[in-house]
Amino acid sequence: MKTSELFKRDRPVFSFEVFPPRNFDRPNAEKRVCATMEVLREVNPDFVSVTYRGAGPDAPKATIGIAKLIRDRYQTEAVVHLPAARLTKADVDDFLVRAEDAGIQNILALRGDIPEGGRVSDDFHYASDLVTYIKSKGDFNVSGACYPEGHPESPDALSDIRALKTKVDAGTSELISQLFFDNEAFFKFQDRCQFAGINVPIEAGIMPIMTASQAERMQAMAGVNLPAKLQGVLHRFADKPDALRDAGIAYAVDQIVDLLAHGVDGIHLYTMDNPEVAARIIEATKNIIRA
Ligand code: FAD
Repeated sequence: MKTSELFKRDRPVFSFEVFPPRNFDRPNAEKRVCATMEVLREVNPDFVSVTYRGAGPDAPKATIGIAKLIRDRYQTEAVVHLPAARLTKADVDDFLVRAEDAGIQNILALRGDIPEGGRVSDDFHYASDLVTYIKSKGDFNVSGACYPEGHPESPDALSDIRALKTKVDAGTSELISQLFFDNEAFFKFQDRCQFAGINVPIEAGIMPIMTASQAERMQAMAGVNLPAKLQGVLHRFADKPDALRDAGIAYAVDQIVDLLAHGVDGIHLYTMDNPEVAARIIEATKNIIRA
């Protein structure tokens, strides 16, 4: 099923992100993903997206292999991430053939982060170039990334929204947002999208914070704002890991409840491959997300 169909129903979409194992050929490589999927089963997720990590031939194999496992073993729709900065057109062709053979119709088209030594290939300068290319290659459903607080390379919010509009016009049927901790920033972003004529569904990306270093990394790498309330939590429980974990989960649940109350199109939960965290979020929200 194309994930775009899921947004046509009269309730928010609830999805999760998982990581493929680093070495897919290792025995039991999929153990952690399966443990996460066993937990996710309880809420019957609308779809699960599988990230694409690193370079080399193992990366597409692992992403597509895990997506196929999610579909076949757990009867859950899967989306494969495809970051193009390290890929040529031939690599993308190969990925699409493999995806089609595995029965995967849903691709999250990404530019990817530019490797330290510069681009390996410039076949896809922006994600929108990849969207156009994938659409020309077959009947795929293509989604894209968006950044409620702006992409770190973007000079200003207006340029970022213009670029997003180009990506949507190229054939992106829905958007998944970068994680954020400030719901107000997301609501303002939704308004900007509406003004710009970006009318596709936007899922809100939520990641429960487990450690102070994780929060600082997200702030430094993704440029996301840590609101005073979250900073207070991080400071108060800095040397109490169990308490910080509980507080991080409570903070994420609070964000989810607020977003659902505001009629968000969907919630995309970054599980960080942590089945215990996924289980606790699900326990706290299972009656809310299906209400
Ligand atoms: P783009 O949409 O191309 O945007 C990149 C920059 O270029 C932005 O600043 C944008 O404003 C600008 N831009 C875009 N188009 C134009 C234009 N036409 N003219 C001028 N400027 C333009 N990375 C991975 O390696 N693997 C993953 O699995 C992965 N999964 C992700 C999942 C989600 C939900 C998100 C939000 C990110 C993910 N990423 C992943 C990270 C992503 O690859 C990086 O954030 C990357 O830097 C940008 O990718 P993009 O697809 O958003 O790029």
